[in-house]
Amino acid sequence: MKECPRRSEISEEMKWDLSPLYADLAAWDKDFKSLDRVLEHFMLFKGRLGESADLLAKAFDASDALDRLAEKLETFAHHKSDEDCANSANLARLERISTKSAELEGMTAWFFPEILALPEARILDMIKSPSLAPYAKTLKDLLREKEHMLSEPEERILGLASDLFSSPHGIFSVLNDADLRFSAVRDADGAEKELTHGNYIKFLESENREVRKSAFLAMHGKYSELRNTFAAALDGMVKGYVLNSKLRKYPKALSAALHSEDIPIEVFDNVIVSTRNNLHLLHRCMNLRQSLLKLDKMGYFDLRAPLLPIPAAEDSIAWDSARMAVSASVEILGGDYVEGVSRAFDMRWIDALENRGKRSGAYSGGCYDSPPYILMNYAASLEDVFTLAHELGHSMNSLLSNRKQTYHSSDISIFLGEIASNVNELLLHDYYERNADDKRLRFRLLCKLADEFRCVLYRQAMFSEFEKEIYEIRDSGEPLQADMLCENYSKLCAEYHGDALKDGGEIAIEWARIPHFYYNFYVFKYVTGFAAAMKIFARLKSDPSFLPRYLDFLSAGSSDLPMNLLGKIGIYPDKDDFFKEAFEKFDEVLTGIEKDFNSDNIVSRVS
Ligand SMILES: [Zn+2]
Repeated sequence: MKECPRRSEISEEMKWDLSPLYADLAAWDKDFKSLDRVLEHFMLFKGRLGESADLLAKAFDASDALDRLAEKLETFAHHKSDEDCANSANLARLERISTKSAELEGMTAWFFPEILALPEARILDMIKSPSLAPYAKTLKDLLREKEHMLSEPEERILGLASDLFSSPHGIFSVLNDADLRFSAVRDADGAEKELTHGNYIKFLESENREVRKSAFLAMHGKYSELRNTFAAALDGMVKGYVLNSKLRKYPKALSAALHSEDIPIEVFDNVIVSTRNNLHLLHRCMNLRQSLLKLDKMGYFDLRAPLLPIPAAEDSIAWDSARMAVSASVEILGGDYVEGVSRAFDMRWIDALENRGKRSGAYSGGCYDSPPYILMNYAASLEDVFTLAHELGHSMNSLLSNRKQTYHSSDISIFLGEIASNVNELLLHDYYERNADDKRLRFRLLCKLADEFRCVLYRQAMFSEFEKEIYEIRDSGEPLQADMLCENYSKLCAEYHGDALKDGGEIAIEWARIPHFYYNFYVFKYVTGFAAAMKIFARLKSDPSFLPRYLDFLSAGSSDLPMNLLGKIGIYPDKDDFFKEAFEKFDEVLTGIEKDFNSDNIVSRVS
């Protein structure tokens, strides 16, 4: 096996350039030292926010200046530490700024409550002032919060108890990440390997069915042993969210979760109803997978089995080819956009290759005062090229938003966060499809997209439905118990996946290992992001006049509420036709796979 290179062995052009943030470590230190001075300036406004609109605007400016500086320091420290997680000087720097940021957060926690303590009429009056125009949306958001605020002493108690509310999540994390040990599993060569969260998917992607099955059983068997503990932790978390929603007078926990982004409940319901109405497509996909794998009945451990073995030579896509494919795929987004993508490569915003100690996975990150950096571990597979396209989607979204918006309105809300990345994946898909004369590649692309539908759309919709059920149970005052959770979960799995999957008893416990159930109605946003991207992709392909609207959307940051920003480009996640393009595409993908399967010699190469 090839050894992983040291960072010093990687060529400069494949590493990111953090110098736009700080030219050297001394510059970072200097900025760090200035934090206290910036804080002091902000603190001068304490107790005076009601004096005038101009003064409040200045307080906002001072608050932003402090946040902006802290974020810049933190971004550099994070990125530096991710280059080599074992480097102790980097870790110490990160620790320094993290501790400082927590301290700053405590010191500045008076700001929003002091605004909210002003009479509503006064706030509404101040919003009209031109000096507060950049902060009008924040003030309106705060006023929406006000409806659900309690009295000051009550808020103080809840604030002090906030740690307690999150402790079930802490218990889950410690149990899941530190205490849980899985038995060893034999790989395809018969060698015993310790099963970990990190390598589990690799086992599931094995061509060897026994390997997949034993990893699946070892994983879920362990969770089964601890089922009551996991149920108690989840129950504690859900109980906290339900209590919080009741105290704050929301009709239910779901309404409380959707409130901050002002997302109507109909959006959440639409995810479940529309997905349910299209379960036949997932069933068809499962039947197809079963036929391709030549199995009488599939198990849940067969869902990631490769449909087409990939020889290593096929997955050695040079970085330059990856760059070329990704750049060509976004040409439809116009010259400015393509130019932005070029800059990401030429200005070295991307840390591309794996090195010893580097953080795993991929992300796009940065702050208002930095380029939108990308960290990835490019290993030349087709999957990696899609990761590059995905992360570039995030980075270009940040770039455009930072360019157009002030610091204050540049953030991209979570609800909209996965749209640009998904659009870019679809564009890359389309590019490969148009240019691939290789049937194997075409077939791989179709299978990849079908998997995406299963994992992003159907699986996350199923999770959302499970979440809805457990909150309803808790809302009615009943505790969540392991048996009931398993029963509900396996019922959903059976309904979603259909007859091709044999009743896999072990899948019933899968809920126990999903961290997202601690995030309070989060995963439905993956589904809406995916469906919105499908709609945008279809519009981009069919209507050239749509492009400027999409670019405006990418530049809009948090200048308006997420539903309003989507409405401006004609996308309504609460309406019936929101999922139209997505399900039509899935149907088309399945038809493509069926056609190849029936008529082509690809299948003979599958076995
Ligand atoms: Zn993403």
